[in-house]
Amino acid sequence: MNTVSEAIKQQIPSISSGTSELDTLQGIFNNQIKGYDRDRYPTFNSRLHHLKQLYKLIDQNSEELTEALNKDFGCRARHETEIAEIIGSLSSIRYQIKNLHRFMKPQRRRTSIWFMPATGKVQLQPLGVVGIIAPWNYSVHLTIAPISAALAAGNRVMAKMSELTPHTSAVLKRLINESFPPDVLSIIDGGVDVSQAFTALPFNYLLFTGSTNVGKKVAMTTAQNLTPVTLELSGKSPVVIAPEYDIEEATLRTLWGKAFNAGQTCIAPDYVLVHKDKLLEFVRAARKAFNTLYPNGLDNADYTSVINKHHYERLTKLVNNAQAHGSEIIVLGESLEKSNKLAPTLIIQPDNESEIFNEEIFGPLLPVFTYEDIDDAIKQIDVHKDPLALYIFSKHKAQTEYITKNVRSGSVLINDTLLQYLQNDLPFGGVGKSGQGKYHGKEGFEAFSNKQAILNQRGLGNFTGIKLLYSPFTAMSKLMQTLIRKWP
Ligand code: NAD
Repeated sequence: MNTVSEAIKQQIPSISSGTSELDTLQGIFNNQIKGYDRDRYPTFNSRLHHLKQLYKLIDQNSEELTEALNKDFGCRARHETEIAEIIGSLSSIRYQIKNLHRFMKPQRRRTSIWFMPATGKVQLQPLGVVGIIAPWNYSVHLTIAPISAALAAGNRVMAKMSELTPHTSAVLKRLINESFPPDVLSIIDGGVDVSQAFTALPFNYLLFTGSTNVGKKVAMTTAQNLTPVTLELSGKSPVVIAPEYDIEEATLRTLWGKAFNAGQTCIAPDYVLVHKDKLLEFVRAARKAFNTLYPNGLDNADYTSVINKHHYERLTKLVNNAQAHGSEIIVLGESLEKSNKLAPTLIIQPDNESEIFNEEIFGPLLPVFTYEDIDDAIKQIDVHKDPLALYIFSKHKAQTEYITKNVRSGSVLINDTLLQYLQNDLPFGGVGKSGQGKYHGKEGFEAFSNKQAILNQRGLGNFTGIKLLYSPFTAMSKLMQTLIRKWP
């Protein structure tokens, strides 16, 4: 009996037995397990080879991937794809290549004097076969960045891409099939039922990027196999603009971060907090910033569409609902409904009954709230606890330190938006409701590794001081215990 397959069918009743997707998933998984059993600790050279292959594949096919993303979005600004998907992916692979030797090197650890001459070290061991689930909003980068960390750490990898970017998934799947044996790296496409079956595979580790609601379901499914999981989730990321900061500059940088990819970025500024005396200045600055960023309006290839009609309508409903609750709506450009292009829109002080107040926006709508003082701003942020990102515009170190220490967030960026994501050496991830676990940086390599603790008892001949603790217990054992208790 095929136990994994049976377990999946029991957990996911919507998957009927014998479906070709399930058989394919199962077959790839079984082959990866066999591959892992053949080579449980790939050499530096073999990992380097895989990373270089991945780099070449993205670099040489960037045009085809850009085209596919454009098809999936209806319109995906080329420059945004280049920055966020292509450069983002290449730089995360390059980071692993550059640091591979250092990351693979076991780390020496201190050994207590009583255990000398034993030595301790931590070896980062591949976990085995790992799964990656990616969302649609940056479907190349959010697939490739975790793959590069997982391959660097010596794992076999299966990555499930989103059903909302089928053209991009098809291209990446074909390219990876051409360059990698499927028992090393495989891309899986298909619908939510495939994602569910994928999640139920007994991976040695799973990294999920997506919404908080689906993340909860993923955590419940992976718990059945005790598969450790990193959850990269969503949330409402605030921007706080201190009263003395140049409002035009802060607004330009905030609007850039909000309008990039039409706000469909997990760390996009969700809402902004401005000092109560600066609201009008902010609105004026936002109009100016829009004209600076989009001098030709939105009816061109430089502004990205909302991914589909469903999400376009969801966003327009959020605006209508806020208006019905008494918010002033300030539209900064002209939307183009036929191409799902939604203009950046300010929503002034939505009340806490408005849907936009409570939901992650994930689109180019920007609620603007006012605060009395910094403690009031923090109190307002606390209503949406654990943001994925926190943005602070301030010139005062004491002020930024006060805010960063009092707001629990996955990351902080001072005086700009979005850029922390592209820093490969900084760990990335959420906290609490916005996620658990980190990747990027050394933390990414570690996330996909078992930190194997190794103590080498190198006694001289048959002698080791620790034998003084063996029975029969003598006055010497008592003395040793007293010493170890005092100086462990
Ligand atoms: P989603 O949660 O709907 O889907 C994400 C992935 O999960 C898709 O590949 C989908 O096929 C799969 N999936 C759907 N239902 C599933 C289930 N029941 N079991 C297992 N897998 C399932 O998210 P989305 O709409 O693709 O992406 C947008 C969301 O992702 C936003 O909430 C955004 O904030 C979040 N996001 C987070 C990060 C981050 O790094 N924290 C990055 C990008 C996007």
